[in-house]
Amino acid sequence: MQYIVVTGGVVSGLGKGTIVSSLSYLLKNSGLNVTDIKIDPYLNFDAGTMSPYQHGEVFVLDDGGEVDLDLGNYERFLDTNLTFKNSITTGKVYKRVIEKERKGDYLGSTVQIIPHITDEIKHEIEDAADGYDIALIEVGGTVGDIESMPFLEALRQMRSMPKNQMIFGHVTLVPEIGDEQKTKPTQHGIRDLRSIGIQPDMLFCRSTNPLSKSAKEKISLFTDVAESEIISAYDVMNAYFVPKLLMDQGILDFIKGRFSIKGHELKYTLDEFTKNLENPKERVKIAIVGKYIEMKDAYISHREAFSHVTGNTGIGVDIKWVDSDKLKNGTDSIKDVDGILVPGGFGYRGVEGMIIAERYARENNVPYLGICLGFQVAVIEISRNLLHLEGANSTEFDKNTKYPVIDLLPEQEGIKDMGGTMRLGSKEIDIKEGTFAHGLYGADKIYERHRHRYEVNPKYISKLNEAGVVFSGTDKEGVRMEIMEFLGRKDYIATQFHAELKSRPMNPSKVHINLVKSALEYQKAKLKL
Ligand code: GLN
Repeated sequence: MQYIVVTGGVVSGLGKGTIVSSLSYLLKNSGLNVTDIKIDPYLNFDAGTMSPYQHGEVFVLDDGGEVDLDLGNYERFLDTNLTFKNSITTGKVYKRVIEKERKGDYLGSTVQIIPHITDEIKHEIEDAADGYDIALIEVGGTVGDIESMPFLEALRQMRSMPKNQMIFGHVTLVPEIGDEQKTKPTQHGIRDLRSIGIQPDMLFCRSTNPLSKSAKEKISLFTDVAESEIISAYDVMNAYFVPKLLMDQGILDFIKGRFSIKGHELKYTLDEFTKNLENPKERVKIAIVGKYIEMKDAYISHREAFSHVTGNTGIGVDIKWVDSDKLKNGTDSIKDVDGILVPGGFGYRGVEGMIIAERYARENNVPYLGICLGFQVAVIEISRNLLHLEGANSTEFDKNTKYPVIDLLPEQEGIKDMGGTMRLGSKEIDIKEGTFAHGLYGADKIYERHRHRYEVNPKYISKLNEAGVVFSGTDKEGVRMEIMEFLGRKDYIATQFHAELKSRPMNPSKVHINLVKSALEYQKAKLKL
């Protein structure tokens, strides 16, 4: 089995995920069967219970796994659907070891970090990598953290197992003071890595400008990594430029050489796409109205979906981040935009502002896309203002509302545990013929990902229909509302599912394309007036 392990040093947030994704893209497009594994050294079992403020978006896989947003990056670059196995956390590993201990699997022994935890880590990595030519493993956190020690030890042990071929890559920071690139932090970082028995084979140096010849020579001298394997990963405008950056420095030749891979020419497919990202022919301004906006990564899959639209249409998207709570003081901040997106979210704070944004879009014919909570606020707003159900709400926000137009999913009744218990993952959606959504998707059935506990209360469906709402997509049974349209408008659509999670560079989310194209039409019409 062939593995590429990527660790990080000096500071967090160096974009290890982008490096791993880009390498994966290059290998997969060379005709190799590639998978990506993320190691997250925290004690949570999964990412589902963590705040988007701390770790950004919770990504959801087809199988319902709630995982770190890096798995979203891997899926987009690999154009594949990963599984919950591809995410390994300390919580998962410890839970399994303790379950085994209780069952009596280790009867008679003292259960210890080495070998029991490290063996379990190795087992989980092998299980996720099974059936692939190459597995890339990203180790979250920074080398030197106590949390990641057992994982690094397990990976070190794997290197000496004859059945494995491994390459260790390390992402490091080369800060610049004036016009001098400083290599000391990298020297220290790599000393840490060597002290736990890992000598890196390749380095990815993150810097503002391309790495200078002298910095490269110095790093090579101190770390024993050949200059040809020191890759300058300097700042570029967008992650989709990184594969070419790595490719141009010969990274594939090195990997193929080390793994004795013959042939496998790369088919690079991102030329046209990155050209459009660099030079969009037109531009629209879209407001993302949410409550986690200080943490832009909380909406990363939407940002990515818009990049995919730009890459394919040449229409650039300038995102305007709007704090939904502030809309209670007036709608000025959304008056200059060409389209409005209300994304998912949890809890009441910010919801009244999202309702104001949706109402503004509905009443002023501004293109609108509602996703999950953005779908639910549309139903609440229309119930209040068109059906005159005063105080209509979701029971998530007002348990005693007289008009619970959004209510708990029946199967959620009685659920007490918060972890992994929502309606999660890929589900079939049936689209009604003759509707706008049917034309947009060009299909009777689609599969999209979910993450919610609440839904449209079936009792209010016929009333909502009278007000002009068309539920054009439902679940298989026809009882769960999945897509909503309004009065034949082609620039207004909302979905209970998370369309952004399945958006891919070469196959962008249909509703995001629709929002951007409608926004351009809206902008042109506005200019004519
Ligand atoms: N809070 C809502 C629910 O649980 C919406 C969830 C979401 O936007 N992901 O149904």
